[in-house]
Amino acid sequence: MPSAVRTPALPKRPLLVAMLLSTHFFLLLLQPLALTAQSISESISSSIHHSLPPLEVKCMARTRIPTPHGPAFLHLYHNNRDNKEHLAIVIDPAQLSESSGSAPIVPHIRSRTLDAVWSENETPMDRIIRGAYVGRLSATSQHASTPSASNPGSSTLSSTIPPPLIRIHSECFTGETVGSMRCDCGEQLDEAIRQISLPIVLPPASPESKPTIVPGRGAVIYLRQEGRGIGLLSKIRAYNLQDMGHDTVTANLMLGHKADERGYEIAGAILRDLGLGGSDTANSISGTVRVLTNNPDKVQALEKEGIKVAERVPMIPRSWQHRKAEAEGKKLEAGGQVHLNGASVEVEAPGATMIGSKAVYGEDLDKYLRTKVLRMGHMLPLWMEEPVASIY
Ligand SMILES: [Zn+2]
Repeated sequence: MPSAVRTPALPKRPLLVAMLLSTHFFLLLLQPLALTAQSISESISSSIHHSLPPLEVKCMARTRIPTPHGPAFLHLYHNNRDNKEHLAIVIDPAQLSESSGSAPIVPHIRSRTLDAVWSENETPMDRIIRGAYVGRLSATSQHASTPSASNPGSSTLSSTIPPPLIRIHSECFTGETVGSMRCDCGEQLDEAIRQISLPIVLPPASPESKPTIVPGRGAVIYLRQEGRGIGLLSKIRAYNLQDMGHDTVTANLMLGHKADERGYEIAGAILRDLGLGGSDTANSISGTVRVLTNNPDKVQALEKEGIKVAERVPMIPRSWQHRKAEAEGKKLEAGGQVHLNGASVEVEAPGATMIGSKAVYGEDLDKYLRTKVLRMGHMLPLWMEEPVASIY
């Protein structure tokens, strides 16, 4: 079996440059070379830049994950830039009923590198175990997938289906696992999976016929870049600075980080591998995607990666929707749905992450949401009332 496309990751550039620079300074003392530290630094930087191999990602494994919003397929990726296991949570339940050889009504979201045959020694069972199968696995049914099968969809419906809905989500241990209410990451992850899973109603072909309903489809690309890319250690320190009165942007800057150190190159490569948003790849199933985000920088970053974005779909914080509904005298019932400005939110329904599909808010979350809008350019209408810690 060939090794994954994994090469030793480069150390963080500033560290490497610092190490090399200190060596060069030592040499400078010994040799009266007319080199300045700056020119050494520049030459090192440019040699590092030019020595980077083209980014490659490879889907190492895929499996079915039942969620409160419906089934998902978790894809685990390796890459040749870092040693992190980035993920794609693909929502495309129509795949579960696919049988080997039959053409799907809707083009399926599949990983090209996962469906490839990795070596001549690989058996169909090897491939099935790593997730390169079609349909649903059972004790009696296992069908390996066809490598690089182009999957355009057999029906004329394909052209009327809206582009897949995607979200680029960065890992947040505190928000997703501990249930921290300092940020809205847990809610956003849950809300993304919920919205992508919503069935799509297609307009009827003729006035007499009924509308067609197809399962929701799209993906959350889950990047392991905790705390806007500064890592959990710095994030914990930044929280203490925030408790001393600084907002999240200032706290990051005080710790020597940028306000946001996230990158989206790997996300772009994973989307291309899944055939999403790039019409230039052989296995592309959609020329464009719709992106769930309030952050215009994220849309720009994806477009820079060659992903064609048809539409930005906003995510309005649930706490704002709830409080707005309350202020407008609308009654919220457990198990029901609130509809506001075209968006809907479940009340007291199960969801992903500790917070689930509940709307939670408190003073810290309000501060964070306000910073997102006022300092990070997030495209949200500001909804603020007196913050009171609360859980709906
Ligand atoms: Zn968070």
